[in-house]
Amino acid sequence: MKMSKLFVQTLREFPSDAEVISHKMLVRAGYIRKLTSGVYNYLPLMWRVLRKVETIVREEMDKAGAQELLMPFVQPKELWEESGRWEVYGKELMRLRDRHNREMCLGPTHEEIITAIARDGLKSYKQMPVNLYQIQSKFRDEVRPRFGLLRGREFIMKDAYSFDTSQEGLEKEYENMAQAYTKIFKRCGLNTKMVQSDSGAIGGSVSHEFMVITDTDAGENDVFYCDKCDYSANSNHAISKLPEANTVGSWTKSEIVDTPNTHTIEELCDYLNISASQIVKTLVYIIDKKPVLALIRGDKQIEETKLLNAVGGIEIRIATAGEIIEMLEVNGFNAEPGFIGPMGLKEYNGYQITVVADETVKDLKNFVIGVNQKDKHGVGYNFNSELQLPEIVTDLRLVEAGEFCPVCGQPLKVTRGIEVGNIFQLGTKYSAPMNAVYLDQNGKTQPYVMGCYGIGISRTAAAAVEAHYDENGIKWPLAIAPYHAIVIPVSTKDEQQMKVAEDIYKTLKKHGVEAVIDDRDERPGVKFKDADLIGFPYRITVGKGIADGVVEFKVRETCEISNITPEQAAEIVVTAVSNLK
Ligand code: ATP
Ligand code: MG
Repeated sequence: MKMSKLFVQTLREFPSDAEVISHKMLVRAGYIRKLTSGVYNYLPLMWRVLRKVETIVREEMDKAGAQELLMPFVQPKELWEESGRWEVYGKELMRLRDRHNREMCLGPTHEEIITAIARDGLKSYKQMPVNLYQIQSKFRDEVRPRFGLLRGREFIMKDAYSFDTSQEGLEKEYENMAQAYTKIFKRCGLNTKMVQSDSGAIGGSVSHEFMVITDTDAGENDVFYCDKCDYSANSNHAISKLPEANTVGSWTKSEIVDTPNTHTIEELCDYLNISASQIVKTLVYIIDKKPVLALIRGDKQIEETKLLNAVGGIEIRIATAGEIIEMLEVNGFNAEPGFIGPMGLKEYNGYQITVVADETVKDLKNFVIGVNQKDKHGVGYNFNSELQLPEIVTDLRLVEAGEFCPVCGQPLKVTRGIEVGNIFQLGTKYSAPMNAVYLDQNGKTQPYVMGCYGIGISRTAAAAVEAHYDENGIKWPLAIAPYHAIVIPVSTKDEQQMKVAEDIYKTLKKHGVEAVIDDRDERPGVKFKDADLIGFPYRITVGKGIADGVVEFKVRETCEISNITPEQAAEIVVTAVSNLK
């Protein structure tokens, strides 16, 4: 490919609306252009990268025994009603109507469709196990599509679905997929960590995520991990052992005491001269419009996904101060947010108030708690005495670094991660409600035991940029780079330089290297800048050195430069590329 013909427009500056590295780089280097919020054009360079990621995914999925198909992007409401998700999926599901007023949606994922396909064709235990996958655009009306390809509204996903006759069969396929995923990400030049996770809207019980560990802002997930054993989990799933803490108050009887101006836990601790671990803290959430109070030890935080799961909700937000005051008022209290407690709060906005507690509160004795009176708190309180322990007591706690590994007891560490793929054991979550069954050996109907396995193709490409860049641009891993190498004649007017450059270019192409020759009549500085920004893994510059028989060879990843012969340069690149296979 001639640089003069390549359809690419690099920009002088990073786009002003981009927050994360991959978004900035991919726009500036001419890979993507925004069409509308969260929706991007994949320009020729990007499309080459995406196709390479797809090829790696296809090769490994096929090797693992899965079969590719393609399902429609538009899906009918009826199937989503069968699974029960039409009502519960929330605003991420883009719903629309056709000219006959039939309701449809843009596929955010394809469990319903694949289950219907299986129901139609997988009738006997003899046909299983089977794993079907597709690579396709998905649409999710994400609330904040602000990270470029990392979180688009339209994005490309590989989604696979397995059908088995038993839990053991499912577990075997789950392990098979875990291994395929490890190979896929490694081939893409990414180091990933497989971590336990919450299964969210997809459902099911066991799930793992593949995380690209990154210290950039793009890591949307906190990953807790242990160096000593191999425990690692997304924050929405992580658990920990807590260090010793003082959870017993010194009061010998319960009473209500003055605590003026103690709006925060810290102020309350200072005023009463206690530690936060002796307080039961009450947080107010609105979950799917319904009021929920979450109780937790004063020094700990609520993990919102855990709370959502505890009450079976979909959308969660913390209540505003105004809502809390109103909630207190309608239940007969004249107080302020800092003094709220669960006692006597019955209903709000036409809903009963649900109270749930984190397990930490069970250890507290003679504790301090809000009693819905301004400038006062209850002290020396106990559960099953001054108040009842809520019906739901479960793990709602956000793990913090420094707490201890639940498996081996060593201090846990925390890092940020980008989720590039995940695997779920669905069981019969879709097959049972959709009546998707087969005949077993005894001629009895049974629902399929299913698994599902996703990889964000476009997110993986963006994550590769997050993991491989410097201030000058992208450093693509060779396997997914749009082109492997660029050959730059310093002066296109110099016949000898042009001749050597063209010879190298031809040699590379002949040996299967995807190369670009920068034939533009530009200053060398401009050519070098573009080469670095676009991120060609290898740069071969033909300049004055050619009089001594050498070219300049640059490895983008390490930025190492050496002067070697044209033959040596070509050989390094040809060897590296043939090793990819
Ligand atoms: P997230 O928690 O990041 O929203 P998810 O749990 O919703 O991801 P899945 O529904 O399991 O993700 O989708 C499978 C894969 O698709 C994810 O692992 C991720 O790589 C990718 N993916 C999900 N949402 C997006 C998005 N908005 N933009 C780009 N890729 C995405
Ligand atoms: Mg999501």
